[in-house]
Order: sequence, then structure tokens, then C-alpha cells
Amino acid sequence: MGDLRIGIGYDVHAFASGRPLVLGGVDISHSAGLAGHSDADVLVHAIMDAILGALREGDIGRLFPDTDPAYAGISSLDLLARVGGLMVERGFRLLDADTVLVLEEPRISPYRDEMRARVAAALAVEPDRIGIKATTTERLGFEGRGEGVGAQAVVLLERVSG
Ligand code: MG
Repeated sequence: MGDLRIGIGYDVHAFASGRPLVLGGVDISHSAGLAGHSDADVLVHAIMDAILGALREGDIGRLFPDTDPAYAGISSLDLLARVGGLMVERGFRLLDADTVLVLEEPRISPYRDEMRARVAAALAVEPDRIGIKATTTERLGFEGRGEGVGAQAVVLLERVSG
């Protein structure tokens, strides 16, 4: 077996009116978007933190501080591509990623394949390596009350050089 590393990522953003809802790099039609410094793509943020965790490179707050105006409104997919570049630079490739979005609304299934394609493209891997699911919390907690969206991600990396 090769040199394998796992990483876990978790993120939450609150709903805010007057913002676009971007999940997995896809614009989703909804009555509210998510508050945040970037486009607030909570799913992509969780994936980035999972990769950075596996690389032992801290987290996205360290890499892309939200006090830095350079990241205001930036597409999180662009940031994910940079994290993917760092992964390659460190000698690793992404073997697999699985994720779960936690939210009451909207329904994710119509957008799932497009999200997988966009996340995979940003990381230069096949869409087959990216899993995206969604669950509700039976109306319990902040996600269940529709106050925000949570996302969890796990990744498996393999060292290919270095
Ligand atoms: Mg975030």
C-alpha cells in the first residue's frame, strides 16, 4: 500500500438575503444565499480544509485570511484550484473525496452532477472521485431551522513523489 493520508473538513455558513447561493461551484436558485467574505461556498470550503488537513498545512483561514481584501467575493473554486496546486506541489494526488451537505432547503439532487463536475475540474481529477450527498436534520438544529448550511468532507490522498 502506498503512502496514504486522510483529511476531514467541516464548515458552516449562515443564510443571508440578497446573496447568491453557491454550492459546489454551482449557482443555485433559492430565496437566500450564504453570508461570507468569499462566495461562501460552504461545500468547497469543507473540501479545501479536508485536503489541507491531509497535507498538514493548517486550514483555509490561515491560507486565505478573511481579513485580506484579495479574497472578498472570490470564487471558492479558484481557491480550491490553488489548494489542489499546493497538493500537487507537496507530491500528493487526490484518490477520493466524499462530502455531505446538511440543509433543509433547497433540494440538491438536481445540481449534484454539475457540482461534482466543477469540483473535480478545479482539482483536475475525474468526477468519479468526488462524492456529494445531502441530508436534512429532521428540522432539528440550525440547519433544520433553515438558518444556515453545514458541510462535511473527507479526502484520501496518496503520495506520488517527494
Ligand atoms: Mg467557510
